[in-house]
Amino acid sequence: MSMITTLIPPIAAAGIAAGAIIYAATAKRKVPMTAKEADFVWKLHKKNTDCASHKMHPRITKHGKITGFRCQCGYKYTQQRPLMSRAPQFNPQTATNNPRKSEKSAKPFSKLASRT
Ligand SMILES: [Zn+2]
Repeated sequence: MSMITTLIPPIAAAGIAAGAIIYAATAKRKVPMTAKEADFVWKLHKKNTDCASHKMHPRITKHGKITGFRCQCGYKYTQQRPLMSRAPQFNPQTATNNPRKSEKSAKPFSKLASRT
């Protein structure tokens, strides 16, 4: 009897801690966005899905903040941000094999100079 009562608190604590970690990693919270941002995301949605709607309805909270929008086609967008975000992984391959386009397309200086 006494062994069971001493074992329960650590097990319960571990369970609560594990639950909290899972919650923190998966939970997303609504974050407000500006009307401009909502318009921008809606235009992106129209472009990506070939949506022909002409109107979107912003979803506004009681406090007057826009948290997303609903498109005429039924598409819903909610601005969310993960509570815990991982830093983007560094990829050495894309970092090294990425020549700048401006260097290739830039006209050689000698061409411009020969005109005169
Ligand atoms: Zn749409």
